[in-house]
Amino acid sequence: MSTLLFTHPVEIEHDPGPGHPERSDRLRAVLRALDDPAFKRLERREAPEAPRAQIERVHAPRYVDFVLKNVPKSGYVAIDADTVMSPASGEAALRAAGALTGAVDAVVAGAAKTAFCAVRPPGHHAEPARGMGFCFFNNIAIAARHARDVAGLKRVGIVDFDVHHGNGTQAAFWEDPTVFFASSHQYPLYPGTGAADERGAGNIVNVPLPPGSGSAAFRQGMERDILPALDSFRPELVLISAGFDAHAQDPLANMELTEADFGWVTARLREVADRHAAGRMVSTLEGGYDLKALAGSAAAHVTELMAG
Ligand SMILES: [Zn+2]
Repeated sequence: MSTLLFTHPVEIEHDPGPGHPERSDRLRAVLRALDDPAFKRLERREAPEAPRAQIERVHAPRYVDFVLKNVPKSGYVAIDADTVMSPASGEAALRAAGALTGAVDAVVAGAAKTAFCAVRPPGHHAEPARGMGFCFFNNIAIAARHARDVAGLKRVGIVDFDVHHGNGTQAAFWEDPTVFFASSHQYPLYPGTGAADERGAGNIVNVPLPPGSGSAAFRQGMERDILPALDSFRPELVLISAGFDAHAQDPLANMELTEADFGWVTARLREVADRHAAGRMVSTLEGGYDLKALAGSAAAHVTELMAG
């Protein structure tokens, strides 16, 4: 079965301002890498705009209004120090969330086994009533609630290997045992959450890794803490917050991962998905700020999504 690639040109147009690390070139680099003949089996789909009802499964209506009303007609509007909107940002944020829910629908319907959403703005720092850390709507959290409420799945697993803790996703599911959330991340680092004793309703696993951690520590955290817990949860769908900023070349963090580590973790997650979820996986782009490392790491990740 095939792998879908959800994206849209407006995802490139979202512009948080000059000199911002979460820049349009990131998505250009990822899409250029996926234009390689090795990815010709990827089935491309246009990301639809998520209707408000989908977004409001995670976010307070007042917060959704706040974001959409603040989209500027020209120039920039900042909703926090580093979370900034340009005229294209409202549509980009709606289509980023819609990519995820569209991918969930397609994978649950059996149109494909796996999907990758090449979208921005990213989502995992966005809390139910607060955007932050370059994120407006929590795309992966919206996907999980959509999978439960619309597709009728009973257990959804989310694994976040972005180098920053997915505080927004954790906040969304803190008291929701129908969703399992696991994150490996550099600690301490922005946003400051993600200690090992943050367990929610027993459905949350955090693997904080000290700065300078490399492949061995990352793989050990996955094998010892995250993969067994995900396996016991028996997810009917595996969602991935795929940030590639734990790469050694990334300028925003100090981990030492390589492209191969992102391929490795994707293959391990695929094994769990094969056991419990008929192989179903939906992944979305989160961080990754060195263009070459980002492109190579995303390619390694999507290669393993396609290998199922
Ligand atoms: Zn990150």
